[in-house]
Amino acid sequence: MGRIVGIDLGTTNSVLAVLEAGRPVVVANAEGQRTTPSVVGFSRDQELLVGQAARRQLVLNPRNTFANLKRLIGRLWQDLDEASQAVPYTIRANDLDQVRVLCPATEREYAPEELVASLLRKLVDDAAVYLGEPVEAAVITVPAYFDDAQRQATRDAGRLAGLRVERILNEPTAAALAYGLDRQRSQLVLVFDLGGGTFDVSILRIASGVFDVKATSGDTQLGGNDFDQRIVDWLAEGFQQTHGLDLRRDRQALQRLLDAAEKAKQELSGTQQTLISLPFIATGAAGPLHLETSLDRSTFEGLCPDLLDRLLRPVQAALRDAGLAPEDIDEVVMVGGSSRMPMVQQLVRTLVPRDPCQSVNPDEVVAIGAAVQAGILTGELRDLMLNDVTPLSVGLETIGGVMKVIIPRNTPIPVRRSDTFSTSEPNQSSVEIHVLQGERQMAADNKSLGRFRLAGIPPAPRGVPQVQVSFDVDANGILQVSAMDRTTGRRQSVTVQGSSNLSQDEIDKLLAEAASKAEDDRRRRLLVDRRNRAQTLLAQGERRLRDASLELGPYGAERQQRAVETAMADLRDSIEEGDDRSIERYAGQLEEALYGLNRRLSAERRGNDGNGPLGAPLQGLRNTLGTLRDELFAEDDWEDDWDRPAAQERGRRRERPADDPWGRF
Ligand code: AMP
Repeated sequence: MGRIVGIDLGTTNSVLAVLEAGRPVVVANAEGQRTTPSVVGFSRDQELLVGQAARRQLVLNPRNTFANLKRLIGRLWQDLDEASQAVPYTIRANDLDQVRVLCPATEREYAPEELVASLLRKLVDDAAVYLGEPVEAAVITVPAYFDDAQRQATRDAGRLAGLRVERILNEPTAAALAYGLDRQRSQLVLVFDLGGGTFDVSILRIASGVFDVKATSGDTQLGGNDFDQRIVDWLAEGFQQTHGLDLRRDRQALQRLLDAAEKAKQELSGTQQTLISLPFIATGAAGPLHLETSLDRSTFEGLCPDLLDRLLRPVQAALRDAGLAPEDIDEVVMVGGSSRMPMVQQLVRTLVPRDPCQSVNPDEVVAIGAAVQAGILTGELRDLMLNDVTPLSVGLETIGGVMKVIIPRNTPIPVRRSDTFSTSEPNQSSVEIHVLQGERQMAADNKSLGRFRLAGIPPAPRGVPQVQVSFDVDANGILQVSAMDRTTGRRQSVTVQGSSNLSQDEIDKLLAEAASKAEDDRRRRLLVDRRNRAQTLLAQGERRLRDASLELGPYGAERQQRAVETAMADLRDSIEEGDDRSIERYAGQLEEALYGLNRRLSAERRGNDGNGPLGAPLQGLRNTLGTLRDELFAEDDWEDDWDRPAAQERGRRRERPADDPWGRF
């Protein structure tokens, strides 16, 4: 099996890690950063921007810049709470109630997983440069509390990015893997993971390399963003009272408010008070308006009591499901940037009487755990075993709209369970199987994962036919359902296609589109490269001709000089005509001609190497010429300009590309 990378696909930031010599390491992106903002956008001229480049245009181009996509992935419009809908770009529900992101720059709408795929692509492309080999497979983490549709959508995003998704791994489990990698002592660990948009709690027993998840709980619509939103509302309402203007109605002002709120929130984790200054935030009747205020920690905490309350229940539920009391927990591992907030840490201390573990980096620990899981899958890491659980109960709708649970939450996965059902009407020839996920009694209150029909049931009184329905949850937490009529043996099996997910046809279409675009992009890049190289070659040609006439005289190497001049003239003509084939051909000819001239020059230099009777004076003359040349060409030293980035690039890649025909200059 080839190399598998670990990716923490965060709401706010994403991180990629790999195993190097058996140890997980975080890979920096092309910008040299260990975390990549989970932001995707398009510039006004439709260029795709990902990560920091996209983040930079959040304020100036808010309609074409998409953050917090993780809160939208695999969700129906009706699933979204108000906070998730309040984004500075435009989202809408399509006919199937699926969430679509509108991009004015490209005049297209996107499924959230398409945009997430661009982010994944950047992460693995940057990693491929670092590793010096293509990256084709990944372990991708998701909140433990992600439902089936959200998991499938994440897996689809990986596939759209051209990756084999070897495992969908729960984030708190990943954090525990990283935490417990070198710890032999048996202990019960509670992972408290509060990120930018989601909240998870998992309880695990870790003992000698065996990681047993006992219970998991959470809230996929709760994270640091909600705390930011409280500050945004506080600022906007204050401003409205003074100036009568609601800043939240202006996309740019809203984005600036969001940025300032997040910054203030983060500062308040370290200080008691912070200043918020947003000059020229709006224009009133009397001219520009500015927002200038200070926020102290206790005011901020006073804005969020209900958010803190929402953190309580999942912790208590996980403890209850694991059959444990708070005192049984040996260690609390805090994960996710939002776990740095003092009020959150305080709350956790009141729930579990332990000081949270400070030895893990909350921003990187999930990606590191994903790389460890990748190592388990490739066999590079032995003696580690992971037993995870399904976060939510799955079952089906029965008569009266009641949900019958087939696999209860917190059942170890992979798991297969079956139950037998019958018809509710006489001579009923088919049954509809409505698959549900959730903890509520009534089907309508739970998440509908999909429906399928088993037909061809022979006529019989109600209650006589026996339909056996089996549920399989794989190690990714993804569900497959099959139904069999026991009388006829007729069977129907489906991977439940969540109604919020892209259909297989749509995925295939997007993959084909990406593949054809990739070919277009590759061709375009090749042309640009070819032309750039031709220009570089021409510049080198000019330099070599000057060298030759200075060192050998105007006709000192007539044949070689003429060959270079002719090839240069032909190459210039073909560039002017825009004829790419000729560019390729004449660039090759110029390369050859330059090779001949270079040989002639070095032979000449060897012959006059300063050892003969005229050696010393000649050497002196050459030195003078050399100095003169350096001065003449110091400004546009093409060769050096060309060599420097190339050398740096090779340093980054560790290996020099084998097919670099330009290396010999
Ligand atoms: P993650 O999804 O783990 O990258 O967490 C990102 C969230 O953590 C964002 O909402 C950040 O604003 C938040 N965050 C990062 N650092 C801090 C901090 N020092 N105090 C409060 N929140 C933070």
